[in-house]
Amino acid sequence: KKPQARKGSMADVPRELMDEIHQLEDMFTADSETLRKVVKHFIDELNKGLTKKGGNIPMIPGWVMEFPTGKESGNYLAIDLGGTNLRVVLVKLSGKHTFDTTQSKYKLPHDMRTTKNQEELWSFIAESLKDFMVEQELLNTKDTLPLGFTFSYPASQNKINEGILQRWTKGFDIPNVEGHDVVPLLQKEISKRKLPIEIVALINDTVGTLVASYYTDPETKMGVIFGTGVNGAFYDVVSDIEKLEGKLSDDIPKDSPMAINCEYGSFDNEHLVLPRTKYDVDVDEQSPRPGQQAFEKMTSGYYLGELLRLVLIDLNEKGLMLKGQDLTKLRKPYIMDTSYPAKIEDDPFENLEDTDDIFQKDFGIKTSLPERKLIRRLCELIGTRAARLAVCGIAAICQKRGYKTGHIAADGSVYNLYPGFKQAAAKGLRDIYGWTGDASSDPIKIVPAEDGSGAGAAVIAALSERRIAEGKS
Ligand code: BGC
Ligand code: MG
Repeated sequence: KKPQARKGSMADVPRELMDEIHQLEDMFTADSETLRKVVKHFIDELNKGLTKKGGNIPMIPGWVMEFPTGKESGNYLAIDLGGTNLRVVLVKLSGKHTFDTTQSKYKLPHDMRTTKNQEELWSFIAESLKDFMVEQELLNTKDTLPLGFTFSYPASQNKINEGILQRWTKGFDIPNVEGHDVVPLLQKEISKRKLPIEIVALINDTVGTLVASYYTDPETKMGVIFGTGVNGAFYDVVSDIEKLEGKLSDDIPKDSPMAINCEYGSFDNEHLVLPRTKYDVDVDEQSPRPGQQAFEKMTSGYYLGELLRLVLIDLNEKGLMLKGQDLTKLRKPYIMDTSYPAKIEDDPFENLEDTDDIFQKDFGIKTSLPERKLIRRLCELIGTRAARLAVCGIAAICQKRGYKTGHIAADGSVYNLYPGFKQAAAKGLRDIYGWTGDASSDPIKIVPAEDGSGAGAAVIAALSERRIAEGKS
């Protein structure tokens, strides 16, 4: 599908609204200079995160200490706990840079993200695993199946099969999990059901993406997610990771690679460099966790619709648009998920009929065409800004590691589904670096990733089994 024309005639937009559009453009535009300033501070913060003292960005060692060779082989289970679904995957690694997967999705029961009883979550996952084993006739196998658990939240790891949740993100909020290792919590429910499954690795989605993509493409330099949340992973070298001092056994060479789950969604929690608008301040202050995930709140899918909603309500309250309309439905926080701005940006500019429909059907609001043009332009601004800021994380890692060329493997709902995001992200990177030639020859390219939480989790499970077999810690 080709992206809809960005510009359309604004001739019918009255002066008042046009002024407002210009103000929004000023507010929501992140120019090249701003991006470079963000990148510079980002590099400092990434480095700080690797020190013993630490910083805002967690920079969590993921205990994947080798590059996949592409020769890893065997059958593995993988699960991915997302916001709406639990994905269970059986992965067959061929040992020749390729893999096959069979998968099922299990819809998370309503309100599971905020259940008061954490056991419900692990029971649900274990039950789904059981269903999957039955479906795939895996229950009568003699051998225990190794499982890679993709858990896409900041979780500290002192080893590969551990994940102590630091804090929930992306709207999850289940008590009594923060501060605990989630691996035994899930393993207990698996064992209760006598399933022949052992969790051998806990994996952040970005690390899975990095490894899956490296398995098929050794030019891969990073795994990044532009989705409900935003984050990136890369391989650092253990000797450059100060906070690992004293934590590694002596047999580990100083130049060993170590995958790092940056958790850079928390970049600039101090609000020093990001070009925040008053709406960004509102999103933060009205969120369940003010002061956290500052970078994520401007770039990820969980918040883009909310930003749009807050601007519209504000313009209405200022008497600038949607006059005389009942905004009760639109006043509900987070009622607009990212699919809203995404659909609106995809709507042909001339009459914006889908947008008209959306506002009438979902919110009981009648919009005029000029109003819809403002809304459409606003969505572009929010999406483009998100893409441009989001790539600052990529530029920062590449500059920190001295990568001049390579592939950045990207996944996530925003990257895959938000119209214009890919183009805006590539353009953002070009602006940061000042590349002027043909975009197809950009030295660092963002490319669609391999399946991180399926293949990636399986490859990591295979690598960690090999480490254990070789007697390494
Ligand atoms: C989480 C990360 C995750 C990212 C993308 C963030 O909210 O903290 O662990 O990688 O979302 O899913
Ligand atoms: Mg995910």
